[in-house]
Amino acid sequence: MKSTAQEIFNYGTTTDECIKCGKCIPVCTIHNVNTDEVTSPRGFLDLLGAYQRGDLELDNTAKDIFESCFLCTNCVDVCPKSLPVDMVIEQVRNDIGKKFGIAWYKKAFFLLLRHRWMNDIAFKLGWVFQTCGFKIKSDVDSMTSRFNLPMLKADRLLPSLRKTSFLNSHKENIDNGGKRKVAIFIGCLANYNYVDVGNSLLEILAYLKIDAFLAKNQKCCSAPAYFTGDFDTVDYNAKFNIEYFESFSKDVDAIIIPEATCSAMLKIDYEHYFHDQPEWKNRAKAIKDKIFMATEWLDKNTDLDKILESKDKDTRSVTYHDPCHARKMQGIYEEPRNLISKNYDIKEMSDPNACCGFGGVTMQSERYHFAKAAGIPKADMIKKAEAEIVSAECSACRMQINASMNYADVKTVFKNPIELIAEALRS
Ligand code: SF4
Ligand code: SF4
Repeated sequence: MKSTAQEIFNYGTTTDECIKCGKCIPVCTIHNVNTDEVTSPRGFLDLLGAYQRGDLELDNTAKDIFESCFLCTNCVDVCPKSLPVDMVIEQVRNDIGKKFGIAWYKKAFFLLLRHRWMNDIAFKLGWVFQTCGFKIKSDVDSMTSRFNLPMLKADRLLPSLRKTSFLNSHKENIDNGGKRKVAIFIGCLANYNYVDVGNSLLEILAYLKIDAFLAKNQKCCSAPAYFTGDFDTVDYNAKFNIEYFESFSKDVDAIIIPEATCSAMLKIDYEHYFHDQPEWKNRAKAIKDKIFMATEWLDKNTDLDKILESKDKDTRSVTYHDPCHARKMQGIYEEPRNLISKNYDIKEMSDPNACCGFGGVTMQSERYHFAKAAGIPKADMIKKAEAEIVSAECSACRMQINASMNYADVKTVFKNPIELIAEALRS
């Protein structure tokens, strides 16, 4: 798990603490696809130290290097000193954004993420999340014709857009006749693109007789902006969300999230982001005990596992991918497995903890060759697991894994564990 004890935001201190042991190198996602010391955790820290001392200018080369990190936290997980490489890279990306500006399409995308009503309109026009998707599609098309690859299906690369978002499809308060109530933070991808995730979560809560509050005013958690260095958007959305959560948190048992990245952002990265704003840091800290990944809360706080045991066994098997933001950042990996294993055989892939290679907006739109290279080994291990379904509680992983499986012509179907659980309850 990522260390919270060492919240070091001073590049020099972090750099000085690196003992150059190299334990992080074999697990580094970017180093595995670009074998160069400068694109390794140790190399990033060296360069950041030079930048801190004034020996390195943030030029185009430095920008390219710092934007090549996947922020997967593999290095933090194995580092004997738990050095927060991802956090210092997030910080320097803000400096890069200030110096170079942020590309127009990313600015437009982040503006949408600040205002859900704008998002709703853009989504209806079919634009949301396509900034990355178009780039992927054009890369795929050119690869397909250049290397005579099998035709790739766009619908597996670009998440399908629905007519009505999840949040706009339901009432704000859903009374399931229960004594308990949870709020749902759904996240943008599941709200607009993978709406079956939220619908399945509502189905599960209805089955368990737990009332639901759809937090309809929620804004994007702002993880895409944080990973890109657009701290103005992070500041705006994070403060809004914290105030909003404070307004209803006493009325609910928990705020549950079927998305690893949103959950990690709200629960862990808000506190990191506000390291230099003590009042907001404390408010982020106060709210975090209410925030859970959906499978985590359901597994620990309900008898869903026993109910699932009484249901039919599905003939399909599942291989589970651990999102970096679930297992490494929040320690969540047993809970989804515990629930889905009641009805599906689990066939573990060789390295479920290996990053899928999503990497964020910049990686997907400007450095997709790295994302693609990192994704192919994941598709290969999914194929070798010989399961019918691959599952992960993360829609960003879903986009990336579906694209990677297309490249590798792997037929395995992706489902969020929440969708699998709802299917099992219907049996
Ligand atoms: S966060 Fe991931 S990609 Fe970035 S340096 Fe660490 S291991 Fe490498
Ligand atoms: S594992 Fe940690 S201390 Fe060792 S080289 Fe990597 S960043 Fe430095």
